[in-house]
Amino acid sequence: MERESLEMDVVFVGAGPANLSGALHLSRLIEAQRAKGEEQSAKLGEIQIAVIEKGSYVGAHNLSGAVMDPRGLAELIPDFKQKGAPLESEVKEDQFLYLTSKRAIRSPINPPPLNNHGYYIVSLNRLTAWLGEQCEAVGVNIFPEFPGAEMLYDERDRVIGVRTGDRGLDKEGKQKANYEPGVNLLAKVTVLGEGVRGSLTKKLVQRLGLDEGREPQVYSLGVKELWELPDDRYPAGRVTHTLGFPSDQWTYGGGWIYGMQNRVLNLGYVTGLDYRDPLIDPHAEFQKFKSHPFVAKLLSGGKMIRYGAKAIAAGGWHAMPQMYSDGVLIVGDSAGFLNAARLKGIHSAIKSGMLAAETIFEALLAEDYSSNTLKSFERRVKESWITPELRRYRNFHAGFRHGRWLGMANAGLQYISGGRAWGIFDRDHQDAGHEAMQKLSAYGYHGDDVAQRYKDFRFDGQLTFNKVTDVYHASVGHNEDQPAHLHVLDTNVCATRCAEEYGNPCQRFCPAAVYEMVDVAQAVSLRGESKPPASSPLPLGEVGVRARSLAGGQNLSEPRAIASGSNGPDVNAPRRQLQINFSNCVHCKTCDIMDPYQIINWLTPEGGGGPDYKGM
Ligand SMILES: Cc1cc2nc3c(=O)[nH]c(=O)nc-3n(C[C@H](O)[C@H](O)[C@H](O)COP(=O)(O)OP(=O)(O)OC[C@H]3O[C@@H](n4cnc5c(N)ncnc54)[C@H](O)[C@@H]3O)c2cc1C
Repeated sequence: MERESLEMDVVFVGAGPANLSGALHLSRLIEAQRAKGEEQSAKLGEIQIAVIEKGSYVGAHNLSGAVMDPRGLAELIPDFKQKGAPLESEVKEDQFLYLTSKRAIRSPINPPPLNNHGYYIVSLNRLTAWLGEQCEAVGVNIFPEFPGAEMLYDERDRVIGVRTGDRGLDKEGKQKANYEPGVNLLAKVTVLGEGVRGSLTKKLVQRLGLDEGREPQVYSLGVKELWELPDDRYPAGRVTHTLGFPSDQWTYGGGWIYGMQNRVLNLGYVTGLDYRDPLIDPHAEFQKFKSHPFVAKLLSGGKMIRYGAKAIAAGGWHAMPQMYSDGVLIVGDSAGFLNAARLKGIHSAIKSGMLAAETIFEALLAEDYSSNTLKSFERRVKESWITPELRRYRNFHAGFRHGRWLGMANAGLQYISGGRAWGIFDRDHQDAGHEAMQKLSAYGYHGDDVAQRYKDFRFDGQLTFNKVTDVYHASVGHNEDQPAHLHVLDTNVCATRCAEEYGNPCQRFCPAAVYEMVDVAQAVSLRGESKPPASSPLPLGEVGVRARSLAGGQNLSEPRAIASGSNGPDVNAPRRQLQINFSNCVHCKTCDIMDPYQIINWLTPEGGGGPDYKGM
């Protein structure tokens, strides 16, 4: 197939705070060099910088808490306030609560990592859109609706650019009338700033072994809603963090409640994606959090207006991969720059983008894009304020493997000691999160009722919502006649081993009702066929007709998961099979992370598809 090739100098993949800051800073460094009019400036010539983004506009896929430490932004744009950065409010009040099932106990001291005075509550969606405008103002080319689908390598495994996704393929992968092949964007340096669990970053790291000698990354999942309140009961600028209910003590988790402008309340719940109980459902944990008397009272009379979910890279310092190779750099959440103890990554994403820009600028002057030159990125990171910040919390997350209270004690010790760990925490490094999930039998569940953990909990459609109702509020849109972007490498595992061992946890850890185990007969009738084949899984990409018809309040109870039965001619054929409602996907990446068999691959869908996180 003929593909167009476009020669750029630097391509940034992903328009998040990290890459937009990188593109802006690089563009300014080049401009400043040109202004000097020295001989070296001529070398630079016309530098073409491009940023590609899979969302339909810059900001569409950006979801965060968010309380922003302004340190990074102030270095990038010192007069960000005068320039109109979209800040919701300065933080005026911090509180930290421990929730029992009925009570909210206010801690007399705020844990130091959660001290937010002088910081700003922001909507990352708006902040990112604004950073995009700053980039365009200095001539950076930004291409929304262009996912980076594949890395391009030369014969010596040096990165030479990125291929954008094809458009106009139907669900079987055949070309439609509007077919447009993806373009090969060739670049001297490609910068991966895809955010958490980047699909290209994952493959690059595996291919080049960039995680050798590092610990596996561990993740959390943040599930969030915005509510419109009827009055001023929760002022803009107030920040609350919670610990306790509804997480059990073996599950890392906590809530946040931030006051935004115009009586909008921003609240969410983080569940560690290294939970043990296979029946945990992070979306349900968040709904339970809202049912706590303290939270329910805050929300009474209000209206839920937006929903979203996204994974968080929580592994910290020990889990960062090598961030450079020939022709490529990795920045922001893709490299794990987030500080999990502070639940903050915007400031360090911005700074990492700036340091990448300085590295690339040096490489452009030297006309050398090999890892030998680009490795100075890591030196820059080490010499910057990012390193002491991340090292101070380097053993933070691993401590929670010993449960909530020992994890908290470890966090305190680390804060005092600058990140050192003793006793049971010493050298107590983390495993990949999905490995922590225990089998149903090992966790003490009997029978195949996968709804037992939440059996007394109901979605009432007022305060608490099922996934389908919530997903509607994420304004997700995907063209349904395209190949599914969620690849399950072996669907037979789903109806057999996974059903027996874990009760198909994808149905629960996905916060968007993408994965469903359905009866074979029912699944086929959804396709409009009269007679089911005895044991053939649905083609991947079957759209979510059923999921999307389930609006309104309902019980969490799932139909019983049956691993095998006697339906049709083959008595051993599974009666249940996986249906992937890919059009519901909110791009949180949890399935790629948490699947116990690691057989789900999240790939980029056709450009522009996904959530619209306006105001999130
Ligand atoms: C629930 C939650 C709460 C958080 N709370 C806070 C907080 O209070 N304060 C704070 O500082 N930080 C917070 N963070 C972390 C913060 O949001 C991140 O650290 C920060 O956004 C990282 O920036 P980034 O540019 O690396 O990635 P992102 O902001 O994730 O941006 C990545 C961009 O790349 C795009 N992309 C991905 N893959 C491709 C591809 N292959 N091709 C094209 N485009 C692609 C994505 O669509 C996205 O626009 C929170 C995160 C979450 C999920």
